[in-house]
Amino acid sequence: MAAAERTAEARAAFRARVGDWALTLGVAVRGVYLRKMRTKWASCSTNGILTFNRDLLALDEQLWDYVIVHELLHFDVPNHGRLWKSLMRAHVGDWEACEARLRSYATFMR
Ligand SMILES: [Zn+2]
Repeated sequence: MAAAERTAEARAAFRARVGDWALTLGVAVRGVYLRKMRTKWASCSTNGILTFNRDLLALDEQLWDYVIVHELLHFDVPNHGRLWKSLMRAHVGDWEACEARLRSYATFMR
């Protein structure tokens, strides 16, 4: 399979996963974008638009879940406080390990 096809497949799989999580978490997502980001893995806006770093496509699905749930929770919880942490624990499990792994991949952020 050509690299471009793999990328298209990964994009579709990523989008499907965002859709699944949005349903699970009861969040209304109005748009999902995957693009090159220099300083972060993802961002969300108050009008329901999510933007993800396309470098995520090369990583595994456990890390996708971490980033997707992280952003979706911000629709209702704008900070990383106790509520956000307990929801991350409930849905992603060992989210701190995911965060640490992502940080190790984020060489472009240094
Ligand atoms: Zn956050």
